[in-house]
Amino acid sequence: MKETYTLKLIQEIESGSLPLDEYLARKAEAIAKLEPILNSFITVVKGFEKSRIERLGLLKGLTVAIKDNICMEGIETTCGSLILRGYKPSYDATVVERIKKNSGVITGKTNMDEFAMGSTTEWSAFGPTRNPWDPCRVPGGSSGGSAAAVASGESDLALGSDTGGSIRCPASFCGVVGLKPTYGLVSRYGLIAYANSLEQIGPIARDVYGCALLLTAIAGYDPRDSTSIDRSYTDYRYALIEGLEGFRLGVVRELLGEGVDQRVSSCIEESIYRFESLGATVEEVSIPSISFALPAYYIIAMAEASSNLARYDGVRYGMSLSARDYDWSRYYEDVRSRGFGLEVKRRIILGAYVLSAGYYDRYYIKALKVRTLIKKGFMEVFKRFDALIGPSMPILPFRIGEKIEDPLELYMCDIDTVPVNLAGLPAISIPCGLVDDLPVGLQIIGSYFCEDTILRIAYNLEAALDLRLKPVFSEVCV
Ligand code: GLN
Repeated sequence: MKETYTLKLIQEIESGSLPLDEYLARKAEAIAKLEPILNSFITVVKGFEKSRIERLGLLKGLTVAIKDNICMEGIETTCGSLILRGYKPSYDATVVERIKKNSGVITGKTNMDEFAMGSTTEWSAFGPTRNPWDPCRVPGGSSGGSAAAVASGESDLALGSDTGGSIRCPASFCGVVGLKPTYGLVSRYGLIAYANSLEQIGPIARDVYGCALLLTAIAGYDPRDSTSIDRSYTDYRYALIEGLEGFRLGVVRELLGEGVDQRVSSCIEESIYRFESLGATVEEVSIPSISFALPAYYIIAMAEASSNLARYDGVRYGMSLSARDYDWSRYYEDVRSRGFGLEVKRRIILGAYVLSAGYYDRYYIKALKVRTLIKKGFMEVFKRFDALIGPSMPILPFRIGEKIEDPLELYMCDIDTVPVNLAGLPAISIPCGLVDDLPVGLQIIGSYFCEDTILRIAYNLEAALDLRLKPVFSEVCV
């Protein structure tokens, strides 16, 4: 097996050449040094570097950063929003429970676009996260803190959530690997909902091995999530097999269409040649319904968001104002006006609109129909291909502030990632090159529960490219 960063790190920890306490101390130092520049974390867990582990389990004491929309007992969980400031959950999300059980050391809660609505991490109430490749640029979003923490070595592994690209987008922009699992593979219990029917929690790591490792730790049936699917345990590390002979890959025409930066397409084309030289056959394929994915996604996501966010009223949790000068309806109004940011408000209003009588059929029902067409389109194509490829993001990481004034321009960035969420499929983003010192991510999409296939394909490409990426701001251990 090719020795990449995570594997090497584990070997050094296991052999004792990098004692765990020294490793954790170095992680704490990296955070102290890099946080003033990057702002990857909203909360760092106090004293994580002093964790003692009795018996090294699957995760071997590696550090894991958790996106701040995933609940952790006793640790402030804000979703990047003022409205949840001060909220300390009374329980661990299932994924957090599993990371602890598998001897992962949780470093903290990472920065994100408020309630995971965004693609840049600029919509956080706690200030933007900066891209470790160029701090003037966005790290992608909404799991930008998680990806920046991993790329910079503040943490070796991280969890993100992906509703419409929020793992793959920042993984692509920060030059790391991020995987969005099949809907139902990873428990959403303890994930603060944005759009339930679309989102999944997934791993972010420096390499494919790290992703396979963390996915193995968190995947599996959970009776506390009614959408969780009961399947047998899989150790995804065993999917990392050399060779791609006989693999059939489809390049999805619609993912490389209008709006894709020429420099991004060239990188993707180079990967296609690599795949061919590794023994795979690559062919162009078209899924026409994908052209309607973006509007369908935004209608469904906003509809679900408006309903999910109705519960934030300043009474049950989070922000509370002094009740004295209020009658009850004004109180809700004031809490929600002050507590939610601009983008969240925009989505609540639009979501309520598409669900309202008279517009429900015209927008929401129509979007659901498009969703079914997209699913069918993918299913049809998977009869002929083992996996599909395209870019993760159509463009390179842009400057902070460059697109924030224009919501539609920001929504357009999600054009290559949202079809996967509408269909519930698994997909991975893996670095495939650098352009002007900025990373480009390749997206590999698999059929339902074929995480093993996309991990194997990504693993082979990673080995063939051997990029050894190191951002300007990074502190790595091995
Ligand atoms: N950028 C997309 C949105 O704003 C996706 C976000 C996500 O995956 N959480 O909805």
